[in-house]
Amino acid sequence: MPSSKSISGQTQQRLELLGDRTRLEILLVLAQSHRRDPLSPSLSEPDLRRRVGVADPGSFGYHLQQLADTFVDETDSGYRLTPLGTDVVGTVVAGLGQGPTIEPTPLGIDCPGCDRPIQLSHADGRLQIGCADHHLNHPIRPNLLRERSPHDLAATAVLGLLQETESMRRGCCPHCAGHCATTIESDDGDTPITFEASCDCCGNHTTQPLGVLLARQPASIALAEASAVDLTGLELVSWTLRGAVAPVQTPSTDRNVVTIETETGAVTFTLDENARILDVDSSVCRATPN
Ligand SMILES: [Zn+2]
Ligand SMILES: [Zn+2]
Repeated sequence: MPSSKSISGQTQQRLELLGDRTRLEILLVLAQSHRRDPLSPSLSEPDLRRRVGVADPGSFGYHLQQLADTFVDETDSGYRLTPLGTDVVGTVVAGLGQGPTIEPTPLGIDCPGCDRPIQLSHADGRLQIGCADHHLNHPIRPNLLRERSPHDLAATAVLGLLQETESMRRGCCPHCAGHCATTIESDDGDTPITFEASCDCCGNHTTQPLGVLLARQPASIALAEASAVDLTGLELVSWTLRGAVAPVQTPSTDRNVVTIETETGAVTFTLDENARILDVDSSVCRATPN
């Protein structure tokens, strides 16, 4: 088995180091210190021990040394998180469960494919946004569901979907930085042409309508601006669905052509069989001043 797909002894040891409540508390307290003072986050050992709430200096020092160099750095002014320590805290606070279920909730906007209301729902760690026939799916961490309105949740989740999908289109897994293989699956008559990407290292996989890839390409953003679509808020959701429902032409086996249209203009993308963008043709009719 290739080394990149197996767990080294060192990785196993480091994961085992995290299986202790005191050590996780140390990382969380150091993260609080980073939040309070990002430019000077280090804490002395006695201060850190007091904040974690451990009375015995010997026991605390043992746990701290177990984390040293990997998850915690010792500096002249005390202890601070390493970048890997920050990653661990991020994983812990993002939540390791699936989060609460959200029943279908209307967002007050209509589907660009069929004019039915767009709804948001969440179950089993996946968010679904759209109508019954045209929708986007995105796995999310429970932390995203906290203290967000349905509108904010939808816009933030779709932005995350677009960023992660673009990273995979460019061959880099947003979860593990491993290599992603990309393909376009052609129409079998019942399902739309889709973009698919899989990470060689962690198995992260996405399947999206091809036009979703194009929602935040520069030419699309220019068309959205000319069409008075505000991509910083909820309109990003309907703009992305507009891409998702855009028809795909396949003039040859290695060419896929997608056109996103508004009343103001259109932008046509030509992509190869690996979703590389070969050509962009844009036509925008700007309003003539009186
Ligand atoms: Zn629809
Ligand atoms: Zn990966």
